[in-house]
Amino acid sequence: MSQSILSAEPVIRLVAFLGVLAAMALWEVAAPRRRREIPRVIRWTNNLALVLVDTIILRLSFPILAVGLAVLAEDRGWGLFNNFDVPVWLAIVVSMLLLDLAIYLQHVMFHAVPALWRLHRMHHADLDFDATTGLRFHPVEIMISMGIKLAVVAALGPPAVAVLLFEAILNATALFNHANIDLPRSVDRILRLIVVTPDMHRVHHSIDPRETNSNYGFNLPWWDRLLGTYVAQPAKGHEEMEVGIEQFRTRRDLWLDRMLIQPLRGPASGHALDPRVTLKDRK
Ligand SMILES: [Zn+2]
Ligand SMILES: [Zn+2]
Repeated sequence: MSQSILSAEPVIRLVAFLGVLAAMALWEVAAPRRRREIPRVIRWTNNLALVLVDTIILRLSFPILAVGLAVLAEDRGWGLFNNFDVPVWLAIVVSMLLLDLAIYLQHVMFHAVPALWRLHRMHHADLDFDATTGLRFHPVEIMISMGIKLAVVAALGPPAVAVLLFEAILNATALFNHANIDLPRSVDRILRLIVVTPDMHRVHHSIDPRETNSNYGFNLPWWDRLLGTYVAQPAKGHEEMEVGIEQFRTRRDLWLDRMLIQPLRGPASGHALDPRVTLKDRK
């Protein structure tokens, strides 16, 4: 069972990725939420090229990825769930919840630690917000996240299918909640009780640091509500709000080479513990 999951993984992931990306792209054309500022060809070419770079670096630098480690852990009896007799459905549900919480906490950490913010701010420096923004992560951030995910998988010993499901769902929701799509407000209100919607995550891409440092969830919206980082709507409204961060606002900054060297450029301002951000908060 676990071995067949492992061999089917690349195809399942590629088909799901391309299918959801195409669906979001069509939806964005049919019902856009915001006017586009930058021609799509610049952003899509560079954001998609980055995915390729990220995938190659990840495959070359890790001997095993999350689903593979879950299979190995099942085999060797590593981790919590491989040492207790828990019903498999319960192990799947709890594993997926804990993986999602780990991703949320990791995202908070990437906003709070200045050196990590340098890596993660590249995700925020996109000057428009659409499905491909959800793919825009620096390769070093991708490697650190994979390291954290592997540690969680080793400690938890989740069923391999839970890890595969979690990663496939996260890939799909990341494309969905960055999409520039106009969901009816009533649908958004109900949907955001169970999943992070584009309107909820767009707040996180606001240039206002108080909004940048909120809504950290990628998948489940509950952690933000439970842990006090939830902001319902951007102060200026979704059409008027500015997307991005204060640094890196030229079209040239959207190119792949500039994205890759961005962590080394300029000060690490705007992170969650930046005194200017917290001072503004007290006003
Ligand atoms: Zn972020
Ligand atoms: Zn985002």
